[in-house]
Amino acid sequence: MIRQTLQELLAERTVEGSLYEKLAEYGVRCHACAHRCRIPEGKRGVCQVRYNEGGVLRVPWNYVGALDVDPIEKKPFFHVLPGSMAYSFGMLGCDYHCDYCQNWITSQALRDPASEEAGARPVDLTAEQIVEGAIQKQCHTVTSTYNEPLITTEWAVEIFKKARVDNLLTSYVSNGNATRETLEYLRPWLDAYKVDLKAFNDKTYRRSMGGTLAPVLETIERLKAMGVWVEVVTLVVPGLNDSENELSHIAKFVASVSRDIPWHVTAFHPDYKMMERPWTEPEKLNVSYQIGKAAGLHYVYSGNRPGEVGTTENTYCPGCGQLLIERQGFRVKKNILGAEGNCPRCLGPIPGIWGVPDRAPHKVVPVERTPRSQEALLIIKEPEESLLGET
Ligand code: SF4
Repeated sequence: MIRQTLQELLAERTVEGSLYEKLAEYGVRCHACAHRCRIPEGKRGVCQVRYNEGGVLRVPWNYVGALDVDPIEKKPFFHVLPGSMAYSFGMLGCDYHCDYCQNWITSQALRDPASEEAGARPVDLTAEQIVEGAIQKQCHTVTSTYNEPLITTEWAVEIFKKARVDNLLTSYVSNGNATRETLEYLRPWLDAYKVDLKAFNDKTYRRSMGGTLAPVLETIERLKAMGVWVEVVTLVVPGLNDSENELSHIAKFVASVSRDIPWHVTAFHPDYKMMERPWTEPEKLNVSYQIGKAAGLHYVYSGNRPGEVGTTENTYCPGCGQLLIERQGFRVKKNILGAEGNCPRCLGPIPGIWGVPDRAPHKVVPVERTPRSQEALLIIKEPEESLLGET
């Protein structure tokens, strides 16, 4: 039997996209991410998974490239239903090509042949089945992650619409290279958004990621203005973005948008094409934490060095200093914050999503199963990756 290539398999799992415009001579311009690729007929966008077929933009649909049940703290969201689980799905492809990507098997599909050799494959799954899986696994949130969600936004919205019917929260774990159009398309169906702010240097973005800094900053500002719950993550990479000057610029920018945005400073570990660089030391995370606090941020968290970073994994009330949530890694050891999100000592409000919204009665959506889809409901993420956060 002839084995289909990954490109052939993905071509069978597409629909016409929504986030694009038609151009002259069968060209299209995609608006899903800030690259805004102009794609001639028969060609692909930078992400490789959106392509022009006869003047129509085909986009990914009806499959997952990875699926797992994760603590919400792993996304990381520290101010969204602490201690709950997130039903996490990814597709394939990315608009960036970060050398240290820990999800490179899914994200670099069709760009790096090693991804296909390592087993990147689509697994058929409908939006209804994903939502049903989340309910069965007692998750409160459905999250698009493991590849760049922006480039597969049409599919995420299809899932999120159904998740909302069942009172689930919805979230993105993203590089933030978004456009206004995509954020407006997402907004009615999205509760929370994690943005990676990977550096504060445009050259670093261009050279090491294949993007630019400005759209990421605009995304953080737009999300805040739109009322989406936002948390920002900076993976502190030795020699790439870990100078105190650069970290200070990042912290000051986040604080300028809102001092209430949680800023996660997480430890790098060697991965993908960056195997020679050392882990980020806990001392560097502690310095980063202090830089965040000095910039005026109310909530700064160290990540990926559980138990080695003192009290910097915890949430404290910025008003009275009360310990509210005690964490070690992704584990919530203690939480005295109620569903209303007020400090029990001084009654000051703590921003975040602390209770399950009451949007509709919780119900299981009946779906027609096929043998293939049952197989797809197995956890297909690599176990090793559950040890670390997602950046
Ligand atoms: S999602 Fe981004 S990279 Fe992909 S085709 Fe659209 S604009 Fe280009």
